[in-house]
Amino acid sequence: MKSYRKELFIETPSRRALINITPMVMECLAESGIREGLVLVNPMHITSSVFINDDEGGLHHDFEVWLEKLAPEKPHSQYRHNGFEDNADAHLKRTIMGREVVVAVTNGRLDFGTWEQIFYGEFDGKRRKRVLVKIIGE
Ligand code: ZN
Repeated sequence: MKSYRKELFIETPSRRALINITPMVMECLAESGIREGLVLVNPMHITSSVFINDDEGGLHHDFEVWLEKLAPEKPHSQYRHNGFEDNADAHLKRTIMGREVVVAVTNGRLDFGTWEQIFYGEFDGKRRKRVLVKIIGE
């Protein structure tokens, strides 16, 4: 069995952002040379998510509005976590949107459903974050 590991770096200029990282993961897969197996993608942080959904702007706006209803950023003082930090909402948003994705690799390609794309969800940005890509197979 072959194994491949890479860290991607993402820094968003805004506090929150959704980024389609599918092309970056496809590059990793090509570099790995693995044709059959599994790819795991996860942020190495607890205030950002990796998830699979549709690359559609209206939906991305809906995610932002929905997450702000569930865990509004402000006022910061509404959260106990925000003693020395101001990112309690980011921890909550990340939990809702999930930590990682696993995608099947078939014949050297990501074996997606029709509209599936891999997203990095940033909820406490403006700093460099790491995303782990681990691929196993042969
Ligand atoms: Zn925190």
